[in-house]
Amino acid sequence: LDVHDEFTHRTLATDVMRPRRNDPPLAVLTQDSTAVEEAEALIKDTDYSGFPVVVSRESERLIGFVQRRDLTLAISDSLVYFTEDAPQLPASDPQPLKLRRVLNLSPFTVTDHTPMETVVDIFRKLGLRQCLVTRSGRLLGIITKKDVLRHMAQMMNQDPESIMFN
Ligand code: ADP
Repeated sequence: LDVHDEFTHRTLATDVMRPRRNDPPLAVLTQDSTAVEEAEALIKDTDYSGFPVVVSRESERLIGFVQRRDLTLAISDSLVYFTEDAPQLPASDPQPLKLRRVLNLSPFTVTDHTPMETVVDIFRKLGLRQCLVTRSGRLLGIITKKDVLRHMAQMMNQDPESIMFN
């Protein structure tokens, strides 16, 4: 095992995933308790390409992943109604926006202990844009394609020799 191999083997998904220790928490949506206002705020206040969807903030169980683009479209495409009798729902209830159609129900996930070497391989082979990091079904973080590329660039800086072998 040369220096390069040792280093790549020791780096785990948990070392590359966001958020880092002092970062703000992961920007997520809950499956049935997110107000349109909150979803809009998330779109306005962050520029992430997508958001994990969890059961609730307490459980943090991963349900899926929604692309920013699809969420934005779904919100701006939605209709409001002014009639006395709402279709299906009582008139007093706000008409919920059904966003399941834009939810990716099987986003790719790895555990926090997955070696980065494997993560890099998965990104390459599947052409992933992002991958979620979980432990026992609990969402811990996210790794984007750029995070992987940044990680690889760091590897090469730390070990210029490796460039010659890659
Ligand atoms: P890219 O990495 O291509 O710029 P993003 O804009 O989605 O893609 O992500 C920017 C950074 O924020 C990345 O380091 C990524 O890990 C992190 N990130 C992505 N989505 C979220 C999210 N929903 N909550 C917190 N951090 C995120």
